[in-house]
Amino acid sequence: MTCTCSTPIRWVAPLLFFLALTLGACGGDDKDTPIADRKVRVVTTTSMLADLAREIGGERVEVEGLMGPGVDPHLYRPRESDVARLVEADMVLYNGLELEGKMGEALEQVEGLGIGAEPVANTVRSSRLLQPEEFEGAFDPHVWMDVSLWRDVAETVAEVLADADTAHAEIYAANLAAYDAELEALDEYVRARVQDVPEDQRVIVTAHDAFNYFGAAYGFEVRGLQGLSTATEAGTGDVQDLAAFVADNDIPAMFVETSVSDRSINAVLEAVRARGGTVEIGGSLFSDALGDPDTPEGTYEGMIRHNVETIVSALSGDTTGPVAARVPS
Ligand code: ZN
Repeated sequence: MTCTCSTPIRWVAPLLFFLALTLGACGGDDKDTPIADRKVRVVTTTSMLADLAREIGGERVEVEGLMGPGVDPHLYRPRESDVARLVEADMVLYNGLELEGKMGEALEQVEGLGIGAEPVANTVRSSRLLQPEEFEGAFDPHVWMDVSLWRDVAETVAEVLADADTAHAEIYAANLAAYDAELEALDEYVRARVQDVPEDQRVIVTAHDAFNYFGAAYGFEVRGLQGLSTATEAGTGDVQDLAAFVADNDIPAMFVETSVSDRSINAVLEAVRARGGTVEIGGSLFSDALGDPDTPEGTYEGMIRHNVETIVSALSGDTTGPVAARVPS
């Protein structure tokens, strides 16, 4: 009996060889291949943007985020290995609104090479941006904390990707529609869940002012210690002022953040107790970086859900939540 598969086998080997060559070229630094015939190489600054680029780009993109878990974007300086990643990118997505305070020069150089660098949060309507007093006229960059604003940023990311890779514009539009529906549901979940916190307990006290958009969108007063950027150290007067506020208002819990040292919030804790107050650390919030990639908090949606559950559990006296297990040592 003749084996009918002999012909395919003869052809498969050269085909694989050819594919290996082609794919090798696509995955490497050969930018001569038209963008429509390979994946779009996207480099982002924050992990929130890396997650968003993956959601909107899907199969069409290869995404690298420069800032990993626990990294503070206000203080981050690009490393040598980042330069190679930036140079090989088709586009760089960054937050803007002065979040990446130490990356200005690197981003300018990238643009000098003709690589598009897009400050995607800058496209949020200015009427929806916050200008807290302590930032002296500049906008608050932490827009991802309001899910409805993140929906605007998602739209911008889809536009930027479709402009660069016009042949696949329909894919980006479809991915945006699907992800936007998820974000809409997430926004509704937050609005409903925060109702479990009694109105007079809706106060978030943290180490830095990352939660102003969260507060404005979902009805919480927000008190941070270091002002908008973590680049400014809190002074003793600030610690005492915040401690007086926490003690006078019987705030049950304050929060630490995964990307900011807990030193200053612990100083407030001690100062409150010295005044006879009984505040606790209510858990750890993800403010300026996602969690580890293989945990639920490694996605934007997981980050928001973790923060909301932590805040609601700590401020509503609900001890069944995930808080106790997640307080960092
Ligand atoms: Zn921040």
